[in-house]
This record gives sequence, structure tokens and C-alpha cells, in this order.
Amino acid sequence: MADDRLRGRAARIALNQPTKLQLQISHGGTEGRKLRTGAVSVSPLLRERFGSLDPRGGTGARHSRDSGVSAPRTPYLVLTYLSFQGTHPPAISSLDRPVQFLKGVGPGRAPLLQKLGLLTARDVLYHAPHRYEDASTITPIRSLSTGMDATIVGRVISAGVLPTRRGLRIFQAVVKDDSGMVECAWPGQPYLERVIHKGDLLLISGPVKFFHGRQIQPREFTVIAGEGETAAEEGGGAIFPVYPATEGLTHRQVRKLVHDNLDDLLRRVRDEDDALPADIIQRVEVEPLWKALDHVHRPASLQEAEQGRRRLAFEELFFLQLLHARARHRAVAERPGIAFERKDFLVKPFHRQLPFTLTAAQKRVLKEIGDDMAAPRRMNRLLQGDVGAGKTVVALFAMLRAVENGYQAALMAPTEILAEQHARTLTRLLDGLPVSVTMLTGRMGAKQRREAGFRIASGGAGIAVGTHALIQDSVAFDKLGLVVVDEQHRFGVKQRLALAEMGTSADMLVMSATPIPRSLALTLYGDLDVSVLDERPPGRRPVRTAVRFESARPKVLQFVREEVARGRQAYFVYPLVEESEKVDLKSATEEYERLKTEVYPDLRVALIHGQMHGDDKDEVMRAFSKGEVDVLVSTTVIEVGIDVPNATVMVVEHADRFGLSQLHQLRGRVGRGAEESFCILLAGGGEARERLQLFASTEDGFRIAEYDMRQRGYGDLFGARQTGLPDFRFADLEKDFNLLGRARTEARRIVDADPELERNPMLRRVLEERYGERARMYHVG
Ligand code: ADP
Ligand code: MG
Repeated sequence: MADDRLRGRAARIALNQPTKLQLQISHGGTEGRKLRTGAVSVSPLLRERFGSLDPRGGTGARHSRDSGVSAPRTPYLVLTYLSFQGTHPPAISSLDRPVQFLKGVGPGRAPLLQKLGLLTARDVLYHAPHRYEDASTITPIRSLSTGMDATIVGRVISAGVLPTRRGLRIFQAVVKDDSGMVECAWPGQPYLERVIHKGDLLLISGPVKFFHGRQIQPREFTVIAGEGETAAEEGGGAIFPVYPATEGLTHRQVRKLVHDNLDDLLRRVRDEDDALPADIIQRVEVEPLWKALDHVHRPASLQEAEQGRRRLAFEELFFLQLLHARARHRAVAERPGIAFERKDFLVKPFHRQLPFTLTAAQKRVLKEIGDDMAAPRRMNRLLQGDVGAGKTVVALFAMLRAVENGYQAALMAPTEILAEQHARTLTRLLDGLPVSVTMLTGRMGAKQRREAGFRIASGGAGIAVGTHALIQDSVAFDKLGLVVVDEQHRFGVKQRLALAEMGTSADMLVMSATPIPRSLALTLYGDLDVSVLDERPPGRRPVRTAVRFESARPKVLQFVREEVARGRQAYFVYPLVEESEKVDLKSATEEYERLKTEVYPDLRVALIHGQMHGDDKDEVMRAFSKGEVDVLVSTTVIEVGIDVPNATVMVVEHADRFGLSQLHQLRGRVGRGAEESFCILLAGGGEARERLQLFASTEDGFRIAEYDMRQRGYGDLFGARQTGLPDFRFADLEKDFNLLGRARTEARRIVDADPELERNPMLRRVLEERYGERARMYHVG
């Protein structure tokens, strides 16, 4: 099929899309150059041409965090079609033309726009302001009085840097409107000389002070027009959108570019199909696309801007939920599951011999899991519970249910040590019951592994415990009925999908100790049903947490010594962050040497860190848990699941460099025995201290996580990249919680009625565009 409509047009093409094209490539803003004629398949060509380039550079994959722009992960190019052959014409519209076609974009500008991730007209349209200045509440300069907090608009009539006697350099500008003039002063910001010029029209807000007369000390300012220009010419109204900019391209220039082209671009949007079906737009009460974009760029009020954002946010959330709904359909509905019966000949005696009574939360969650398992569809459930909430026992109940039905159960842990720990715990708790526990990890010898593999394949192993070695191809279960994954967040999205593929009809229970707010859970694990263990087993003593200054170190060291003298063990934890890994590792190692030779020469001190070989790490950890090490110096490798009840002190160095959620995981390593435990955070002063004080005041993991997220954003909670949290441009998980729920409802409604999206080709196409490979995984049965 040759399609002449495409001739001369450009499109964004996912690099892995199997399409044959004759094409001309406009790349990196240089003039389009004809590279090939004749039909070529896209991927080899692109590999050949761009294989060696950093995807962040030339190929146009956009990851420009600071500009606030983010985009589909798939690298793409802007291509100009000469002719087209293939069965799937890529989505194409005049909005996909390169930016050079826009008004006001010459060859010089295009590379600058590319730096902002703007390659096509569509990119420009979606380049949303990162904030708005509200000029609708402007005070005339004449009416300013000391003590007010005001917003003014005025033109700069003089500007310059004034040195003061104390060496501080102040940038000053006198600003005038129709009613009068006022002095504005920016102490310590002499560089503003290069930003604010005589003749500029400024929007300024800040407190009015008295200093030889009225003076504003701007909290914020925006240059809304240059000399001789008015705000209207540059597209400003009562609300001034402020755009992400880059060096060589000011936000005003970006605004002008957007606004000069906006009407034209919006007309095309109107002509195109809106990606959202009309009935959803109506039910959810969001604006149609063109209107939302108009409101985002040219709002008459902040409310309008918000309405526009809300629509675009909904769309982002909706497509992710659509992806989840497809995954869920595949995992739960598409394949038959096992209807486990409540035979109880293992579950009952196990319950009777437990050395404690279950918490109410454990009972509730067990019922949810039990109902799922009894139903003929596959279970696909996330069990969330803070450290120490008692997830293992819950998982064990579920595994016994599978075993008493003649099936096998697998428990998978992220590390060897955790797998061993689980195997020990399970064996202990199952004492006297006719269930065998088999361990399989990558570290085991070939012979042992073969034996374990044989027990698993012959069905002799009722319960198999291991690392991801369990899901390797060479391991064939005889009759797998349930897969439990511990510390789910340690596994990436891919591994989770691989797991779902493992047993064709096995139920799946994934467990996570990272307390995350529900909105984030829905976003990350929207394809799963969620159970929450929100109650701690009784009788556990709180960990006493204290924040201390460096100056208290001698006392802290002495305290640790006393604890060790009483037979306890201690952790010293050092931060290790990627950016300064080498320096951090060096300081952790040096501190270890110092503790070992100078501070505690008489104690057994050991070091463990992430760069060590897995076997060596395990050996150190094992020695510590056997009590052969008194003081363990470590980087954060200990954070997951390690259980050493005799360790009662944790000293965290540079605590301010940790996220609170991470500290929470760390603190969970102490307070696991009968003795009182302590967590001592060493940190400097400043605002970090407030965070740490909050942390010290509570052991509620959810509260800590929510606070952490508000402070640091979702991404930092636990490497968002790895877990598949998308970079939303418009959606805000905290603010848009309700919208998220509706997105989920609508997405499930669509997939329930049309699982393959056959009757919704537009949705299917957009889904593929946005989520590329992941979306396709759900399309091929
Ligand atoms: P996590 O949720 O962090 O995996 P675990 O399952 O390891 O927690 O449980 C932590 C400890 O609490 C274990 O020693 C476990 O035996 C114990 N435990 C679990 N449930 C209860 C309960 N209902 N009452 C008392 N102790 C419990
Ligand atoms: Mg656990």
C-alpha cells in the first residue's frame, strides 16, 4: 500500500515499529536531509544511523527533567515520508510536522527548541506552562503601602547593581506604571543585571518594605514584555503563563512562539479525533482536547487553566489505567484459574499450632486472599504491609491452601539471604506438618540445585523457596498453584510480568513492605487487587529514635559500646548515593577502619557494602546474624528484610541524606527482639532536621511515606524508573486522586467490553504510541 497522503509529511515513529518507508530524516534541527530512497525498513536504518548516539541527544528521546518536559520512553525520530509501504500507517497528522514549519522558527531556533524536547508542532502544543502568574489582582503602584504583600506590573525605568559597604551586591530597579513608581531590590542577586533590562515590563510580587521610601523585595518576578512591546503582543492576558525555557531561549520567546501558532494548531486539533471517546468526556466531565489545550495556554483565569490541566491529567491517568486493565484482563480473566477448595487439613492444624493469635488485619487479609483463591479466576493480588506487620505468616496460610489442594507453592525473595531466612522460618513454623520446604537459589552448588530441581519437577516439593533462580527456564514445576513474591518493589515491572507468565494458571500474591499511598499503588500496580496489613502484631516495643548533632558523637559511640557490653549488636549505616558513589564508599570504608582500629579495637567490627561480591556479602551477613560480629558497618544494603533480633542499636550517619521511607526500612532492622531498641540519627542542623524530627516522632510507615513524597516527589521513594512509574506531565498523584479512580473505572469498563480494543482502534493506537513495548505485550496473546 502506498499512501500519497503521507507524502511530504513527517511523523514520529517508534523505533521498533515494523514499517517500511522511504524517508527523509529531519534530525537535531538541521535541515532535513534525504538519506535513502527505495523502501527500507526503519529499524535497521535507524540503528545504522543512530545506533551510537546517546538517545538523550540526537534521536529525540526526551528526558529533559529540568525543563519539566517528559515524554514517551521510546526514542523516536521525526521522519518525512516520501512514500509509505506497510500495513500499519503510523499515526500521522499535520501536527507531526517538524517545528521548522511553525511561524517564527528559523533554522537557528530549531536546535534550541530541540533542547526543550520540542521537535514537532504537537510537542509545542503540549509544552505546557509550568506555572502561571496571576495578574488579575494587580495593585496600582501608587496604592502600595508598607507592610502590604502585593503584585504589580510596571516598566523598568532604570536598573543596576549597587555595592553596599558590607560587600553585599544588590540589584535594583525602578519600576513605573500609570499611577507612580517604586524601587525594587534584590539583595545578593547581581546577576539579574543580565536578566532585567531598562524598558522591560515586569510582573512582580512581594512584600512592600520601608527603606528610604517604599521598596518592594520581590519574592517572584516575570519579565512579561520587552522594551517597546506590550504584554498582549506576547500573548499575556490577565494570567501569564510561564513556560519551561532553556539557555538561549527565554520563557518569553517560548510563550510568543506558542501563542503565535496557537490558533492554527488548535484548529488542527479540532479536526483530529480526540483520543478520548465522547461518552467518557461526558461522564467524567472533562473538556474536549482542543479546549483544554486552549485553556492551558491561554486561560482567562486560574480556574480555566486548572480545567485544562485536569483534562490532560485525566488522559494521562486513563491511558496508564488502560494499560493496567489490559494486563489485569490477561492475568485474571483471560486464562482459567484454579478454584482451591477449603480442605483445611493443613490450614487448620497450622493455625492451631501458631505460637500467637492473628491480628484482625491478618484475618481480614486472609479472607480476601481465601476468597480470591476459592474463585475460579486467577488471583493477582498485592499484599501491602509495613515492616513487621506479619506478611510471611499470611503468605504461608495461602501456600498451605494450595498444597492441601494437591498443588505446589513458590515463595520468591529478592536476595539469597532473605530466601534462606524464609526457608528457615517456614520450616520452623511448619514443624510437625506433612509439608516439605525446598530451597533453590543461584548460589547453591550444581548438585544441590539439580536435586532441588528434581524435587520441584517431581512434585515432591510442596513449597519451594528461592531467589529468581526459581523462575529460570530450567526449573519446571510439576503442578504450580501459587506464586508468592516477597519485597515486590525490588523486582522490576518486567520481572513481574515474567512471573505472571510462569505458571499458566497459578495464583499470584506479591508482597511489599514499602508503604505507599493508595494513589501511588493504583498507578504502579493498577493491574493488581490490593490488600493492606495496617496493624502491627501486639507486644512489640517501639524503637526509640533520636536525632543528634555531630557533637554528640562521642556519647553515641560510648552508648553503642555499652549495648555491646550487654551482649547486643549494632549497625552503623552510611549513605551511598549514585552520584557520589565513589566518595561515599571511600568514606564508609574509612569510617569502618577508624571504628575497627581506633574506637572499638576490642570489638568484632565488620563491613558490608553493595560493591562486594554476593557471596562475601552473604558471609558477613551470616556472621552477623549468628552473633559473631558486634558492630556491622554498612551502606544501605541491609535495608531489605534482614532479621537479627539481637541487634538493638542502629546509628545512621548523615541521616539527612536519606529519604524518610528509606530510613523507615532501615529502622525496621532493629526492634525485632524482646530488648528495647534504639535508632540514632546523626545529622547537621537546617531544614533536614525538621524532617528527621517528624520521622523520630512516629513509626507509622504510611505517614512517613506520605510526608516523604510531599517533600521529595514520588520518584525518589524507590527508584521510579525501575518500578515503571511514568513521568506525568499534567497529572499530580496527590491532587488527582479522584480523577485517578475515575480513570481506572473507565479503563476497566472499556476493557471488560472490548478486551482487545478492536472496537476502539484509536485507543489501541494511542496506547501503543505511549507505552510501546509494554502495550504490545498485552496485545499479543
Ligand atoms: P513482615 O511483614 O515484615 O514480613 P514478618 O512476617 O517477618 O513481617 O513478621 C515479623 C515477626 O512478627 C515475625 O517474627 C512473626 O513471626 C511475628 N508475627 C507475625 N504475626 C504475628 C502476630 N499476629 N502476633 C505476634 N507475632 C506475629
Ligand atoms: Mg518480610
